[in-house]
Amino acid sequence: MNVLIVEDEVNLAEALAHILKDQHWSVDVVHDGNAGLSYGLSDAYDVIVLDLMLPGIDGMEVARRLRAKGISTPILMLTARSSIKDKVSGLDCGADDYMTKPFSTEELLARLRALTRRTGEVVLDELQFGDLTLDLSNMNLTCGARSVHLSQREGDVMKLLMKTPKAALSKEALLTRVWGTQGESSANNVEAYISFLRKKLNFLNSRVVISTIRMLGYRLDDTEPPAEQA
Ligand code: CA
Repeated sequence: MNVLIVEDEVNLAEALAHILKDQHWSVDVVHDGNAGLSYGLSDAYDVIVLDLMLPGIDGMEVARRLRAKGISTPILMLTARSSIKDKVSGLDCGADDYMTKPFSTEELLARLRALTRRTGEVVLDELQFGDLTLDLSNMNLTCGARSVHLSQREGDVMKLLMKTPKAALSKEALLTRVWGTQGESSANNVEAYISFLRKKLNFLNSRVVISTIRMLGYRLDDTEPPAEQA
């Protein structure tokens, strides 16, 4: 099991790492929110132990950004606070479980075991961008009352675009991640699938368009800002 510990109290982080290494876990330790986010985004962990109060960005924001990027690694949030309100907002932001400091080693291990048993079940079931929702269980793309089914490849391309909204995704990145490094992949494939997806977005009457960004690749754009809150 690979675990990422994000905890700015160095002594506590080292103690946790020691306990988990004793259980033959592979452990990475970082001490601030920004490092926690970039390590977490590598999607290389079975579970993340995430402190709430951190320098840089706090634990809740780290969890929220990981989930927004499609990372579904189970998260155990640690906090010195114990109010119900914090527990609720901690779970709201995408944490899977919550533990108040101080805690016993037995409790920590029991919770991590429970979370890692659930690995594979803790998956995002849908992605959203603008007026679009992609149901990852059946690859149906929905906009309002209209819905279309995406083929496996179309779904893979759409998923990557929706996971990195506002950032251009290069043809090369799409090729490698959807078609792999070998096979009949070529830039023409990417163009063909982008064109299929554009037709489907058109059929859905979606506000979302796939923009071609010169020299950079493709990006989803929401052509209409969300309605003003009344
Ligand atoms: Ca802290």
